[in-house]
Amino acid sequence: MMFPEVMEGSRTQLPYFRTDEFSEMMLDSERVLKNLLNAGDESKVAFLTASGTGGMEAAVINFFDRFDRLLIVSGGGFGHRFCEICDVHNIPYDAIELKFGEVLTEELLNEYKGFKHTGMLVNLDETSTGQLYDIKLISDFCKSEGMYLVVDAISSFLADPLDMKSDGVDAVILSSQKALSLAPGLSIVVMSDRIYERSKSVHSPSYYLDLSRHVSDQKRGQTPFTPAVGVLLDLNRMLHLIDDIGLREKIMGTAELANYFRSNARTIGLKIPEYPLSNAVTPLLFDGNAYDVFVILREKYGITVTPSGGDLRGKLLRVGHIGNLTKKDYDRLLSALKEVIG
Ligand SMILES: *Cc1c(COP(=O)(O)O)cnc(C)c1O
Repeated sequence: MMFPEVMEGSRTQLPYFRTDEFSEMMLDSERVLKNLLNAGDESKVAFLTASGTGGMEAAVINFFDRFDRLLIVSGGGFGHRFCEICDVHNIPYDAIELKFGEVLTEELLNEYKGFKHTGMLVNLDETSTGQLYDIKLISDFCKSEGMYLVVDAISSFLADPLDMKSDGVDAVILSSQKALSLAPGLSIVVMSDRIYERSKSVHSPSYYLDLSRHVSDQKRGQTPFTPAVGVLLDLNRMLHLIDDIGLREKIMGTAELANYFRSNARTIGLKIPEYPLSNAVTPLLFDGNAYDVFVILREKYGITVTPSGGDLRGKLLRVGHIGNLTKKDYDRLLSALKEVIG
């Protein structure tokens, strides 16, 4: 659910963007965003007109090439996507394939000690299952192995803590339509100075997604190509809204909603997996009828939760906690779920 305060960009005439006002706003967004991620002044930000996958692909192909070897946590649909991106671009990798329900542990990581991987790709919240990976564990591993760390925080940003400096994260990928609760169409890559320097010696096989082009224009608050102007206007409002509330408070609010829903869901007999969960989403386990529950909730109660695809279609539904939601919304959902499963 979007916040009414930040829906202007989709309601009004959009301004022409090659102007000083637009540039100032973009520089301001960059400053607030770096601050929220503790990215450091010397970090770089690229605003891409693409969905989150465009941000993932941009990060992979600008930072790495066929002379690298990456380690990918492949614990669901989005981890698998990183593998597919590397396949397309002939970038060698090893994938830590997690079975559904399997937790990413230190033992699993340690199997790859000394493999001389150059970088790690991970979706901090693997949104397809809701598993939240342990950033400290991953960060310590990458530091001790001398690896670059690229984090897809598309669904965990604003829901779970992330600090680029203290977690040693070299690049963070964000997208407008998840916790930022904006319209789709914008993805953002925030990168450390060190990984940006590295990208200069990597031949990026893309024109549109060449990050150096974006970083160099963003120095004056501009983008090389026509950006998603409306989404960028809303992004600026949203970033200030978060900044005013405080990042810690924002995350705590999301955690409170998640915990409220989870404890009540267990009370009415719903099953939640045992693995560590992101505050962004609660997965619910069903015995084969998950998709039917999704349809009934939508058609009979007007409530939309997220169904799963592939093997998990009958098994898993996901309930989001990001965006403009309140405990009342969960009360409605819980009473509907109680009727449906009862
Ligand atoms: C939603 C999401 C994406 C991006 O998907 P798009 O459909 O390309 O926007 C990437 N990674 C994660 C973890 C996501 O939740």
